[in-house]
Amino acid sequence: MTIRLASVRKTFGSHAALDDVSLEIGTGEFFVVLGPSGCGKSTLLRAIAGLEPIDHGEIHLGDRQVAGPKLHQPPEGRNVGVVFQSYALWPHMSVRANVAFPLETAKQSKSCVQARTNNCLATVELEPFADRKPADLSGGQRQRVALARCLAQGAETVLMDEPLANLDPHLRSAMEEELAEFHKKSGSTTLFITHDQREAMALADKVALMWDGRVLQADTPEMLYDRPVNEQVAGFIGRSTILTADVLAVRGKRALVSLAGQAVEVDCAEGQEMGSARLLVRPEHVVVAEDGMPCTVQRVTYRGGYWEGHARLEGDDTPVLINLTRKAFAGDTFRLKLRSAWVLSS
Ligand code: ADP
Ligand code: MG
Repeated sequence: MTIRLASVRKTFGSHAALDDVSLEIGTGEFFVVLGPSGCGKSTLLRAIAGLEPIDHGEIHLGDRQVAGPKLHQPPEGRNVGVVFQSYALWPHMSVRANVAFPLETAKQSKSCVQARTNNCLATVELEPFADRKPADLSGGQRQRVALARCLAQGAETVLMDEPLANLDPHLRSAMEEELAEFHKKSGSTTLFITHDQREAMALADKVALMWDGRVLQADTPEMLYDRPVNEQVAGFIGRSTILTADVLAVRGKRALVSLAGQAVEVDCAEGQEMGSARLLVRPEHVVVAEDGMPCTVQRVTYRGGYWEGHARLEGDDTPVLINLTRKAFAGDTFRLKLRSAWVLSS
């Protein structure tokens, strides 16, 4: 089921938690909303689930409009499953009873409830733990119970609000794989919220980067990383340096820029204008080469398997972030070549 938001606005007092948000999430897509704490992610999820009425705009689930001017369909009518950061399990009930709960309240036959509960427990591989209480499970297992319960509801649309945030790092990666598997098996349209860009990149078909109530860019992880629409997105996603360069010539999606006195060919959007521009340089865009631009190393940090260096190009004040395969020291001089870069449009 598709999820579509058009110009959605939600204010708390004078603060706009959602400021003109428009999004389209395709059927079966794993869509991640990424952004810093307080940018409006949970409000967005709550608005879609029907837990938060909106002030302006429209929300459509499939071909049904569920929110709009004078329209607010309550959560029960929206058929979306929600998984929160806190697992919200019933502590006095067994794993099986927790998963069966939404089915029993839907007044299904006993055999039907049993079959479906077993099926959902199997999907998240929790059958051996079916008779335990939530307190006797690990964090990852509890989150799987929450997933199974969400699955049992039969919702075609699943909304998850930072479901892995409470887990240890090693468990998080294991759960990421399970979530990807869960998504493949269930085929549900999934909206997943996180403030962790690594998690977003690993899971998403598409990522919407949110900032202060607004969606800055909604794109594939690759596009977000390689072709950020502006400096704000570029600075948030991955490691990078942003340099000032002069665009000398443009041909289609390639531009010739002058950087620290050298002419370099880089990528740009079609219609790029001439003159001063901001250039996004990722560490992997820069290589040490004899015919490169002279630079001086300012700082080196070991990152496990490689060294991260800050190097100043002759004639430019901004230190460039580079990856070094061999150890270097502050004060070392060598030459750097730009293999590629992206001209930011604003
Ligand atoms: P996130 O999930 O990205 O951390 P939230 O959606 O929870 O952000 O909150 C966005 C903004 O709206 C924050 O500034 C928060 O303080 C505010 N906010 C959220 N819910 C309420 C509420 N019920 N009443 C007042 N302000 C709220
Ligand atoms: Mg939140």
